[in-house]
Amino acid sequence: MFEYLLAAPADPILGLADLYNKDERTNKINLSVGVYKDETTKTPILESVKKAEHLLLDDETTKSYLPIDGVNSFNIATQVLLFGSENQRARTAQAPGGTGALRIMADFLSRRTKIKRVWISNPSWPNHRSVFQTAGLEVREYRYYDAQTRSLDFDGLMSDLNQVIAGEAVLFHGCCHNPTGIDPTPEQWQTISELALKNGWLPLFDLAYQGFGQGIEEDVYGLRLFANNQPELLIASSYSKNFGLYNERVGAFTLIAADSEIADRAFSQVKTIIRANYSNPPAHGAKIVSYILNNAELKEEWIDELTGMRQRIHRMRQLFVKTLQDKGANQDFSFIAKQNGMFSFSGLTEEQVLKLRNDYSIYIVNSGRINVAGMTIDNMSRLCESIVEVL
Ligand code: PLP
Repeated sequence: MFEYLLAAPADPILGLADLYNKDERTNKINLSVGVYKDETTKTPILESVKKAEHLLLDDETTKSYLPIDGVNSFNIATQVLLFGSENQRARTAQAPGGTGALRIMADFLSRRTKIKRVWISNPSWPNHRSVFQTAGLEVREYRYYDAQTRSLDFDGLMSDLNQVIAGEAVLFHGCCHNPTGIDPTPEQWQTISELALKNGWLPLFDLAYQGFGQGIEEDVYGLRLFANNQPELLIASSYSKNFGLYNERVGAFTLIAADSEIADRAFSQVKTIIRANYSNPPAHGAKIVSYILNNAELKEEWIDELTGMRQRIHRMRQLFVKTLQDKGANQDFSFIAKQNGMFSFSGLTEEQVLKLRNDYSIYIVNSGRINVAGMTIDNMSRLCESIVEVL
């Protein structure tokens, strides 16, 4: 049965990580994969996480199954982080990472509602299209990025979203849009929310970088506006980046319905989706998050560590812009200092990206997306000299 199968193309981002690992040149720089790196280019385990793990190992008395929707204290803490307090119209299920939460969202829409079409931004994280299509939904794109002005194409976005009809869904990045690093302003979120209400389509949020933009509260401005204004909303949130728990696979799926009774009924359907997929989630990562968010001292330490990660990225953005200028770049890169989160659309062409990879051992995704967290004070000079040479 299998000899007919053709080899699948390598994942555009993870495939690049393989190439980077095989590259034997000593001065290589990796700005491709989407993980945080510290000043020594390591992806650290947070101190707050280590402390929570010690407590957890001491306290743990059983490895018995979790409920289908996971650790209850984790789900409540997730709502507090998302909305500022528990939300009576919301129900949350712990999920295996943000991707697992997106897949629950996609399966729920495809198999339990009448929705057939989901709109995603152009560009977006490539897995958005894969997850929704694999669940059987049609994916359409709305305009998002204006390459000329290197900013949000808000007119294009509004004109495309004006075509969305009731019974369709639209996915937004809660903050730190991947790959552009450009988010709507509070006024723009308001305008989009009014359009959703007027035309009756369902908003979806993917929140993978809470705390990496301006701060944990600031980064959910748009999400909270929608949670207050819209009768229905679905959210996939991830703890991979903001707790550095990438390989523990910790995320959450949250459903908001018009009232508490409808939320209960809809959520019972969500649980049937989970049961038929992975039955119930793994415990360790979610318990770490729950220990931290439910302990005032650990929570404060985590917020400090998250602030440290955010500020380091911000410093690298500024240093990158300045160093490019100092090295004589013939283009203005100041837009990079204004973007949010780990990623920037650098504006480098595919040809320039390939030259950087082959001749300078600098790894950037073909689209020109750079992970600013891969930059350090040590590699900045060589990085910027190389970019100026290929410009
Ligand atoms: N959504 C976006 C926009 C992302 O960038 C990522 C990870 O890169 C995810 C979701 C998935 O996160 P997780 O690793 O928790 O599945």
